[in-house]
Amino acid sequence: MGVVELLAKALAEVGVDTEGVDLESAASRRIFRVGRFEDLHYVSFRRQFRGVPEGSAVVFAGGESRIVWGYPPIRRVLLPRVAIPKWFPGPSVVVEEKMNGYNVRVFEAGGKIYAVTRGGLICPYTTRRLRRLHGDGLASMLEDLGPDHYVAGEVVGLENPYTRYYYEESPRFGYFVFDIFRGRERLAPREKYRIAPEYGLRTVRMLGEIKAGEDGAERLKAIVEELEREGREGVVLKDPESRVEPLKYTTSHTNIGDLRLGMQFPFEEGRSFLFSRILREAFKEWEEGARRYYELGSAILEPAIESIDRVSRGEGVYEEFELELGGVEESEEVLTFFASLGVSLEVVRVERGRDGVRAVFRKPRKSGAEISWILRTGLSPLD
Ligand code: ATP
Ligand code: MG
Repeated sequence: MGVVELLAKALAEVGVDTEGVDLESAASRRIFRVGRFEDLHYVSFRRQFRGVPEGSAVVFAGGESRIVWGYPPIRRVLLPRVAIPKWFPGPSVVVEEKMNGYNVRVFEAGGKIYAVTRGGLICPYTTRRLRRLHGDGLASMLEDLGPDHYVAGEVVGLENPYTRYYYEESPRFGYFVFDIFRGRERLAPREKYRIAPEYGLRTVRMLGEIKAGEDGAERLKAIVEELEREGREGVVLKDPESRVEPLKYTTSHTNIGDLRLGMQFPFEEGRSFLFSRILREAFKEWEEGARRYYELGSAILEPAIESIDRVSRGEGVYEEFELELGGVEESEEVLTFFASLGVSLEVVRVERGRDGVRAVFRKPRKSGAEISWILRTGLSPLD
Protein backbone atom coordinates (compact mmCIF):
# COMPACT_ATOMS: atom_id res chain seq x y z
CA MET A 1 0.00 0.00 0.00
CA GLY A 2 1.16 3.53 -0.75
CA VAL A 3 1.27 6.18 1.92
CA VAL A 4 -1.96 7.77 0.71
CA GLU A 5 -3.91 4.50 1.11
CA LEU A 6 -2.33 3.90 4.49
CA LEU A 7 -3.31 7.41 5.52
CA ALA A 8 -6.92 6.97 4.39
CA LYS A 9 -7.15 3.75 6.38
CA ALA A 10 -5.53 5.29 9.48
CA LEU A 11 -7.84 8.29 9.38
CA ALA A 12 -10.91 6.07 8.96
CA GLU A 13 -9.84 4.15 12.08
CA VAL A 14 -9.97 7.32 14.16
CA GLY A 15 -13.31 8.33 12.69
CA VAL A 16 -12.13 10.86 10.10
CA ASP A 17 -14.18 10.32 6.97
CA THR A 18 -12.07 10.60 3.83
CA GLU A 19 -14.76 9.25 1.50
CA GLY A 20 -14.70 11.30 -1.69
CA VAL A 21 -11.66 13.26 -0.52
CA ASP A 22 -8.81 13.41 -2.93
CA LEU A 23 -5.83 12.74 -0.68
CA GLU A 24 -3.46 12.74 -3.64
CA SER A 25 -4.48 16.29 -4.42
CA ALA A 26 -4.22 17.25 -0.73
CA ALA A 27 -0.69 15.89 -0.85
CA SER A 28 0.11 17.94 -3.93
CA ARG A 29 -1.34 21.04 -2.25
CA ARG A 30 1.21 20.33 0.46
CA ILE A 31 -1.41 19.97 3.20
CA PHE A 32 0.61 17.14 4.61
CA ARG A 33 4.11 15.89 4.16
CA VAL A 34 5.54 12.42 4.35
CA GLY A 35 8.43 11.87 6.71
CA ARG A 36 10.64 9.09 7.84
CA PHE A 37 12.73 8.53 10.95
CA GLU A 38 14.61 5.27 11.49
CA ASP A 39 12.19 2.55 10.34
CA LEU A 40 9.11 4.64 10.98
CA HIS A 41 7.08 6.33 8.25
CA TYR A 42 4.73 9.14 9.12
CA VAL A 43 2.55 11.84 7.68
CA SER A 44 2.42 15.25 9.30
CA PHE A 45 -0.31 17.80 8.75
CA ARG A 46 1.01 21.23 7.92
CA ARG A 47 -2.50 22.66 7.90
CA GLN A 48 -5.87 21.82 9.36
CA PHE A 49 -7.59 19.31 7.08
CA ARG A 50 -11.05 17.73 7.42
CA GLY A 51 -11.09 18.15 11.18
CA VAL A 52 -7.52 16.91 11.58
CA PRO A 53 -5.69 19.78 13.28
CA GLU A 54 -2.44 21.29 12.06
CA GLY A 55 0.60 19.62 13.59
CA SER A 56 -1.01 16.16 13.78
CA ALA A 57 1.18 13.19 12.91
CA VAL A 58 -0.10 9.87 11.59
CA VAL A 59 2.51 7.24 12.30
CA PHE A 60 2.87 3.83 10.64
CA ALA A 61 4.67 1.30 12.77
CA GLY A 62 4.79 -2.45 12.41
CA GLY A 63 1.66 -2.74 10.24
CA GLU A 64 -0.30 -0.53 12.60
CA SER A 65 -1.00 3.15 12.64
CA ARG A 66 -1.53 5.68 15.35
CA ILE A 67 -2.26 9.36 15.44
CA VAL A 68 -0.67 12.02 17.57
CA TRP A 69 -3.11 14.90 17.36
CA GLY A 70 -1.87 18.45 16.88
CA TYR A 71 -1.40 20.21 20.22
CA PRO A 72 -4.35 22.62 20.48
CA PRO A 73 -3.59 26.37 20.52
CA ILE A 74 -4.18 27.96 23.92
CA ARG A 75 -6.21 31.18 24.08
CA ARG A 76 -4.52 34.11 25.76
CA VAL A 77 -5.99 36.14 28.59
CA LEU A 78 -5.53 39.90 28.58
CA LEU A 79 -7.82 40.68 31.54
CA PRO A 80 -7.86 37.79 34.08
CA ARG A 81 -10.54 39.51 36.20
CA VAL A 82 -12.96 39.33 33.26
CA ALA A 83 -11.84 36.11 31.55
CA ILE A 84 -11.61 33.69 34.49
CA PRO A 85 -15.22 33.84 35.72
CA LYS A 86 -16.51 33.81 32.14
CA TRP A 87 -14.41 30.93 30.81
CA PHE A 88 -14.23 28.36 33.61
CA PRO A 89 -17.23 26.38 34.88
CA GLY A 90 -15.71 26.24 38.38
CA PRO A 91 -15.67 25.96 41.26
CA SER A 92 -11.86 25.99 40.91
CA VAL A 93 -9.07 26.46 38.37
CA VAL A 94 -5.65 24.80 38.42
CA VAL A 95 -2.74 27.21 37.93
CA GLU A 96 0.23 25.55 36.29
CA GLU A 97 3.51 27.19 35.47
CA LYS A 98 3.95 27.99 31.78
CA MET A 99 7.54 27.13 30.91
CA ASN A 100 9.31 28.78 28.03
CA GLY A 101 10.83 26.27 25.67
CA TYR A 102 9.33 24.25 22.86
CA ASN A 103 6.37 21.92 22.78
CA VAL A 104 7.23 18.23 22.39
CA ARG A 105 4.72 15.40 22.17
CA VAL A 106 6.17 11.98 22.81
CA PHE A 107 4.74 8.69 21.61
CA GLU A 108 6.04 5.16 21.90
CA ALA A 109 6.27 2.47 19.21
CA GLY A 110 8.05 -0.86 19.44
CA GLY A 111 9.49 0.00 22.84
CA LYS A 112 11.14 3.20 21.59
CA ILE A 113 10.05 6.78 22.05
CA TYR A 114 9.80 9.51 19.44
CA ALA A 115 9.65 13.28 19.91
CA VAL A 116 7.21 15.24 17.75
CA THR A 117 7.51 19.01 17.31
CA ARG A 118 4.55 21.40 17.30
CA GLY A 119 4.54 21.16 13.50
CA GLY A 120 4.07 17.37 13.61
CA LEU A 121 7.59 16.33 12.61
CA ILE A 122 9.76 13.82 14.42
CA CYS A 123 12.79 15.82 15.53
CA PRO A 124 15.87 13.57 15.47
CA TYR A 125 17.86 15.71 17.92
CA THR A 126 15.05 15.92 20.50
CA THR A 127 14.25 12.23 20.08
CA ARG A 128 17.83 11.10 20.68
CA ARG A 129 18.45 13.45 23.57
CA LEU A 130 15.15 12.51 25.25
CA ARG A 131 15.90 8.82 24.81
CA ARG A 132 19.20 9.28 26.63
CA LEU A 133 17.56 11.35 29.39
CA HIS A 134 14.14 9.74 29.94
CA GLY A 135 13.88 6.97 27.34
CA ASP A 136 13.02 4.22 29.82
CA GLY A 137 10.63 6.28 31.94
CA LEU A 138 8.71 7.64 28.96
CA ALA A 139 8.56 4.28 27.20
CA SER A 140 7.29 2.37 30.22
CA MET A 141 4.76 5.04 31.12
CA LEU A 142 3.36 5.07 27.58
CA GLU A 143 3.38 1.28 27.40
CA ASP A 144 1.43 1.07 30.66
CA LEU A 145 -1.05 3.71 29.53
CA GLY A 146 -1.71 2.10 26.15
CA PRO A 147 -1.12 2.91 22.47
CA ASP A 148 -3.77 5.64 22.21
CA HIS A 149 -1.82 7.75 24.72
CA TYR A 150 0.91 10.30 24.22
CA VAL A 151 2.45 12.88 26.45
CA ALA A 152 3.04 16.59 25.90
CA GLY A 153 5.74 18.58 27.62
CA GLU A 154 8.10 21.49 27.27
CA VAL A 155 11.78 21.05 26.46
CA VAL A 156 13.62 23.87 28.20
CA GLY A 157 17.22 24.98 28.54
CA LEU A 158 19.92 26.29 26.24
CA GLU A 159 20.85 23.24 24.18
CA ASN A 160 18.32 23.04 21.37
CA PRO A 161 17.82 24.46 17.87
CA TYR A 162 14.50 26.20 18.68
CA THR A 163 13.98 28.29 21.83
CA ARG A 164 16.64 28.99 24.40
CA TYR A 165 15.93 30.28 27.90
CA TYR A 166 18.00 29.53 30.92
CA TYR A 167 16.27 27.54 33.67
CA GLU A 168 18.01 27.02 36.96
CA GLU A 169 16.48 23.56 37.38
CA SER A 170 17.55 22.58 33.90
CA PRO A 171 20.21 24.82 32.37
CA ARG A 172 20.95 22.68 29.33
CA PHE A 173 18.15 20.30 28.40
CA GLY A 174 15.14 19.27 30.45
CA TYR A 175 11.71 17.86 29.74
CA PHE A 176 8.72 18.92 31.82
CA VAL A 177 5.43 17.13 31.27
CA PHE A 178 2.32 19.32 31.13
CA ASP A 179 -0.34 17.06 29.63
CA ILE A 180 -1.08 13.42 29.05
CA PHE A 181 -3.48 12.73 26.21
CA ARG A 182 -5.66 9.78 25.45
CA GLY A 183 -6.60 10.24 21.81
CA ARG A 184 -7.79 13.82 21.56
CA GLU A 185 -8.62 14.06 25.25
CA ARG A 186 -6.36 15.61 27.83
CA LEU A 187 -6.42 13.79 31.16
CA ALA A 188 -7.33 15.82 34.24
CA PRO A 189 -4.33 17.80 35.57
CA ARG A 190 -4.22 15.76 38.79
CA GLU A 191 -3.78 12.56 36.76
CA LYS A 192 -0.52 13.68 35.17
CA TYR A 193 0.79 14.96 38.52
CA ARG A 194 0.13 11.47 39.89
CA ILE A 195 1.36 9.39 36.93
CA ALA A 196 4.45 11.17 35.56
CA PRO A 197 6.54 11.12 38.79
CA GLU A 198 5.96 7.37 39.11
CA TYR A 199 8.18 7.02 36.03
CA GLY A 200 10.81 9.49 37.18
CA LEU A 201 9.49 12.23 34.91
CA ARG A 202 9.36 15.87 35.89
CA THR A 203 6.24 17.98 35.46
CA VAL A 204 5.64 21.72 35.19
CA ARG A 205 5.02 23.17 38.65
CA MET A 206 1.49 23.39 40.00
CA LEU A 207 1.33 26.88 41.48
CA GLY A 208 -2.06 26.68 43.13
CA GLU A 209 -5.74 26.05 42.74
CA ILE A 210 -7.79 29.24 42.67
CA LYS A 211 -11.52 29.95 42.73
CA ALA A 212 -13.11 30.45 39.33
CA GLY A 213 -14.33 33.93 40.25
CA GLU A 214 -13.01 37.45 40.75
CA ASP A 215 -11.35 36.52 44.05
CA GLY A 216 -9.51 33.76 42.17
CA ALA A 217 -8.27 36.42 39.75
CA GLU A 218 -6.93 38.38 42.75
CA ARG A 219 -5.03 35.28 43.92
CA LEU A 220 -3.68 34.83 40.41
CA LYS A 221 -2.35 38.36 40.49
CA ALA A 222 -0.19 37.47 43.51
CA ILE A 223 1.06 34.31 41.79
CA VAL A 224 1.99 36.23 38.63
CA GLU A 225 3.75 38.94 40.67
CA GLU A 226 5.92 36.26 42.22
CA LEU A 227 6.74 34.83 38.75
CA GLU A 228 7.51 38.38 37.63
CA ARG A 229 10.08 38.71 40.43
CA GLU A 230 11.60 35.34 39.54
CA GLY A 231 11.74 36.22 35.84
CA ARG A 232 9.58 33.24 34.76
CA GLU A 233 7.25 33.05 31.76
CA GLY A 234 3.72 32.84 33.14
CA VAL A 235 0.85 30.48 33.81
CA VAL A 236 -1.52 28.12 32.05
CA LEU A 237 -4.95 27.92 33.68
CA LYS A 238 -6.69 24.55 33.46
CA ASP A 239 -10.06 23.20 34.47
CA PRO A 240 -9.54 20.45 37.10
CA GLU A 241 -11.73 18.10 35.05
CA SER A 242 -10.47 19.22 31.61
CA ARG A 243 -14.02 20.24 30.65
CA VAL A 244 -12.90 23.43 28.90
CA GLU A 245 -9.72 24.33 27.06
CA PRO A 246 -6.90 25.96 29.09
CA LEU A 247 -6.01 29.65 28.95
CA LYS A 248 -2.57 31.27 29.16
CA TYR A 249 -1.26 34.45 30.73
CA THR A 250 2.33 35.71 30.68
CA THR A 251 4.44 38.06 32.79
CA SER A 252 5.60 41.46 31.56
CA HIS A 253 9.08 40.10 32.09
CA THR A 254 8.39 37.66 29.23
CA ASN A 255 6.30 39.95 27.02
CA ILE A 256 9.02 42.59 27.08
CA GLY A 257 11.85 40.03 27.04
CA ASP A 258 10.36 38.47 23.88
CA LEU A 259 10.42 41.89 22.22
CA ARG A 260 14.06 42.34 23.19
CA LEU A 261 14.99 38.96 21.70
CA GLY A 262 12.74 39.31 18.68
CA MET A 263 13.93 42.78 17.71
CA GLN A 264 17.44 41.43 17.13
CA PHE A 265 15.74 40.19 13.96
CA PRO A 266 13.50 43.14 13.11
CA PHE A 267 12.20 41.70 9.85
CA GLU A 268 11.39 38.33 11.38
CA GLU A 269 10.23 37.95 15.00
CA GLY A 270 10.47 41.72 15.43
CA ARG A 271 7.67 42.29 12.98
CA SER A 272 5.43 39.46 14.18
CA PHE A 273 5.96 40.06 17.93
CA LEU A 274 5.41 43.80 18.07
CA PHE A 275 1.66 44.33 18.03
CA SER A 276 0.68 41.33 20.16
CA ARG A 277 3.21 42.14 22.91
CA ILE A 278 2.31 45.83 22.95
CA LEU A 279 -1.38 44.93 23.24
CA ARG A 280 -0.67 42.68 26.24
CA GLU A 281 1.23 45.45 27.97
CA ALA A 282 -1.35 48.11 27.10
CA PHE A 283 -4.10 46.16 28.87
CA LYS A 284 -1.83 45.40 31.81
CA GLU A 285 -0.89 49.06 32.14
CA TRP A 286 -4.56 50.02 31.97
CA GLU A 287 -5.36 47.57 34.81
CA GLU A 288 -2.30 48.02 36.97
CA GLY A 289 -0.39 51.11 35.88
CA ALA A 290 3.07 49.62 36.41
CA ARG A 291 4.49 52.24 34.00
CA ARG A 292 7.01 50.02 32.22
CA TYR A 293 7.22 52.57 29.41
CA TYR A 294 10.98 52.95 29.26
CA GLU A 295 11.58 49.21 29.58
CA LEU A 296 9.20 48.51 26.70
CA GLY A 297 10.66 51.20 24.45
CA SER A 298 14.26 50.19 24.99
CA ALA A 299 13.40 46.51 24.44
CA ILE A 300 12.20 47.50 20.98
CA LEU A 301 14.99 49.86 19.96
CA GLU A 302 18.21 48.64 21.56
CA PRO A 303 18.48 45.18 19.98
CA ALA A 304 17.52 46.55 16.56
CA ILE A 305 20.23 49.20 16.81
CA GLU A 306 22.71 46.53 17.84
CA SER A 307 21.86 44.45 14.76
CA ILE A 308 22.28 47.48 12.49
CA ASP A 309 25.65 48.04 14.15
CA ARG A 310 26.71 44.46 13.53
CA VAL A 311 25.81 44.60 9.86
CA SER A 312 27.50 47.99 9.42
CA ARG A 313 30.69 46.39 10.81
CA GLY A 314 30.37 43.64 8.22
CA GLU A 315 29.20 40.97 10.68
CA GLY A 316 26.23 38.68 10.12
CA VAL A 317 22.90 38.45 11.91
CA TYR A 318 22.26 34.90 12.99
CA GLU A 319 21.17 32.61 15.78
CA GLU A 320 23.78 30.37 17.32
CA PHE A 321 23.26 27.28 19.43
CA GLU A 322 25.26 24.42 20.88
CA LEU A 323 23.99 20.84 20.97
CA GLU A 324 25.17 17.77 22.82
CA LEU A 325 25.14 14.85 20.40
CA GLY A 326 25.64 11.11 20.74
CA GLY A 327 28.22 11.07 17.93
CA VAL A 328 29.39 13.03 14.89
CA GLU A 329 26.83 11.29 12.67
CA GLU A 330 24.06 12.97 14.70
CA SER A 331 25.37 16.31 13.55
CA GLU A 332 24.76 15.22 9.93
CA GLU A 333 21.25 14.16 10.96
CA VAL A 334 20.52 17.62 12.39
CA LEU A 335 21.74 19.29 9.19
CA THR A 336 19.62 16.98 7.00
CA PHE A 337 16.52 17.49 9.13
CA PHE A 338 16.77 21.29 8.97
CA ALA A 339 17.63 21.20 5.27
CA SER A 340 14.37 19.28 4.71
CA LEU A 341 12.62 22.25 6.35
CA GLY A 342 14.38 24.67 4.03
CA VAL A 343 16.80 25.90 6.71
CA SER A 344 20.47 25.62 5.91
CA LEU A 345 22.44 25.51 9.12
CA GLU A 346 26.12 26.16 9.26
CA VAL A 347 28.44 24.12 11.50
CA VAL A 348 30.72 26.43 13.43
CA ARG A 349 32.64 23.73 15.29
CA VAL A 350 32.45 20.15 16.50
CA GLU A 351 34.29 18.96 19.57
CA ARG A 352 34.61 15.53 21.12
CA GLY A 353 34.21 15.91 24.85
CA ARG A 354 33.79 13.64 27.83
CA ASP A 355 30.01 13.53 27.45
CA GLY A 356 29.88 12.79 23.72
CA VAL A 357 30.15 15.33 20.94
CA ARG A 358 29.35 19.02 21.25
CA ALA A 359 28.56 20.98 18.11
CA VAL A 360 27.89 24.64 17.51
CA PHE A 361 25.48 25.59 14.72
CA ARG A 362 24.50 28.87 13.15
CA LYS A 363 21.12 29.68 11.64
CA PRO A 364 21.37 32.68 9.29
CA ARG A 365 18.56 35.27 9.44
CA LYS A 366 17.16 37.27 6.58
CA SER A 367 17.10 40.46 8.68
CA GLY A 368 20.83 40.66 7.98
CA ALA A 369 20.28 40.99 4.22
CA GLU A 370 17.45 43.50 4.72
CA ILE A 371 19.57 45.71 6.96
CA SER A 372 22.49 45.47 4.59
CA TRP A 373 20.28 46.60 1.67
CA ILE A 374 19.09 49.60 3.70
CA LEU A 375 22.66 50.54 4.61
CA ARG A 376 23.64 50.41 0.92
CA THR A 377 20.66 52.26 -0.54
CA GLY A 378 19.60 54.46 2.34
CA LEU A 379 16.00 53.60 1.43
CA SER A 380 13.21 51.88 3.33
CA PRO A 381 11.83 48.55 2.10
CA LEU A 382 8.53 49.48 3.82
CA ASP A 383 6.77 52.81 3.75
P1 ATP B 1 -0.19 28.74 20.47
O1 ATP B 1 -0.45 30.16 20.83
O2 ATP B 1 -0.64 28.39 19.09
O3 ATP B 1 -0.73 27.78 21.53
P2 ATP B 1 2.66 29.20 20.94
O4 ATP B 1 3.76 28.23 21.14
O5 ATP B 1 2.92 30.35 20.08
O6 ATP B 1 1.36 28.43 20.41
P3 ATP B 1 2.69 29.91 23.63
O7 ATP B 1 2.44 31.32 24.00
O8 ATP B 1 4.08 29.45 23.79
O9 ATP B 1 2.10 29.69 22.28
O10 ATP B 1 1.71 28.99 24.57
C1 ATP B 1 1.34 27.69 24.32
C2 ATP B 1 2.46 26.73 24.65
O11 ATP B 1 2.85 26.80 26.01
C3 ATP B 1 2.11 25.28 24.51
O12 ATP B 1 2.14 24.87 23.17
C4 ATP B 1 3.21 24.60 25.33
O13 ATP B 1 4.32 24.34 24.52
C5 ATP B 1 3.63 25.66 26.32
N1 ATP B 1 3.42 25.32 27.74
C6 ATP B 1 4.33 25.56 28.73
N2 ATP B 1 3.87 25.18 29.91
C7 ATP B 1 2.62 24.67 29.71
C8 ATP B 1 1.63 24.11 30.57
N3 ATP B 1 1.80 24.04 31.88
N4 ATP B 1 0.49 23.67 30.00
C9 ATP B 1 0.29 23.75 28.67
N5 ATP B 1 1.18 24.28 27.81
C10 ATP B 1 2.34 24.75 28.32
MG1 MG C 1 6.04 28.79 24.17
